[in-house]
Amino acid sequence: MKLETIAIHSGNSVDPVNKAVIQPITLSTTFERPDNMGEGFLYTRAANPNRQSLENLLAQLEGGEDACAFSSGNAAGLTVFQALEPGSHVILPDDMYHGLRNAVLQVLNGVLEVTLADMTNLREVELAIRDNTRLIWIETPSNPLLKVTDIEAICAIATTNNILVGCDNTFATPVLQRPFELGADIVMHSSTKYLSGHSDVLGGALICKKKSDLWNRIRSIQELAGAVPSPFDCYMIVRGAKTLPYRMRGHVENGLKLAEYLHDHPQIEQVFYPGLKDHPGYGTAQKQMSGPGGMMSFLVKSGEADARKLVKLVKVFTNATSLGGVESLMEHRASAEGPDTKTPKNLIRVSVGLENIDDLITDLDQAFTRL
Ligand code: PLP
Repeated sequence: MKLETIAIHSGNSVDPVNKAVIQPITLSTTFERPDNMGEGFLYTRAANPNRQSLENLLAQLEGGEDACAFSSGNAAGLTVFQALEPGSHVILPDDMYHGLRNAVLQVLNGVLEVTLADMTNLREVELAIRDNTRLIWIETPSNPLLKVTDIEAICAIATTNNILVGCDNTFATPVLQRPFELGADIVMHSSTKYLSGHSDVLGGALICKKKSDLWNRIRSIQELAGAVPSPFDCYMIVRGAKTLPYRMRGHVENGLKLAEYLHDHPQIEQVFYPGLKDHPGYGTAQKQMSGPGGMMSFLVKSGEADARKLVKLVKVFTNATSLGGVESLMEHRASAEGPDTKTPKNLIRVSVGLENIDDLITDLDQAFTRL
């Protein structure tokens, strides 16, 4: 089946009892056991009908063998690292979602060896490999600098060295980028973002290309640590994902127009968007993405104070963190990342929504004029 059909049908089944077309939310935490050792659901932390439907949808969307749903993107991402043998070495991108980087560095401090590398510099990645390197983690396009990693090239290096590759596909979604087809072993999502798409539910996902010992450990951490989404949250993500392929077309269409507007703006120093021809990752994005997405960032020429001011002057955009919803958001990214951030102080991150692009551009025009 094609993605549009998968998005609508793979997370849903007609209720066998009352024939409801939309699968009901099963709130029960526990399930009757006609036979003590029998098949079926036992307890909702381990499995639940709504989570099973969501996991089926996630696996189908990414084209993987199995999926685990989590209560947040961070819970999903951290689980991959927790599943590695203590003492393993991992390579993380130098530009990635700061919350997951902090989770790995702080929660697994002393458990894993970590090197940060520029994933766009293949030589740097090769040189970072050690005898005990077990995982290369990539995030492409990256948050917040929109760096584009050549997934196929990284996977080739990883295969030669018997290392696994995990790919955070949150910004691209399975609609725009297919990491398994390019060699990745595990795909991760913050389903809080485009997958659910309406900024009203927190969630995370891991999908495996093939089941493995590592995957079995991931499944068991999901159950034992219990960072699982509620049945209602699973329902919300399944509901939102039905329109994912169509929403992504709108995000790309608006993204391209907005990036061109920003690119030509005299008050802007630089725009980071993989759909712009002068973006260093443009060629790789053309090769591995079917569209550059709806995320971008830019540097305000007049500096930090004006960047901080700009996000307060917009009226259609909302000054808020997060991304991937139908509404456009802007934020002064360094403030969101906190005191240790390396993000330029004059950088604004934009999540382009699905409003009419003319209204978004008019809004930015009035905000820039008032700087
Ligand atoms: N990965 C990326 C690229 C993100 O942008 C985020 C959140 O902003 C996460 C992971 C973490 O997801 P969550 O906030 O659902 O825990």
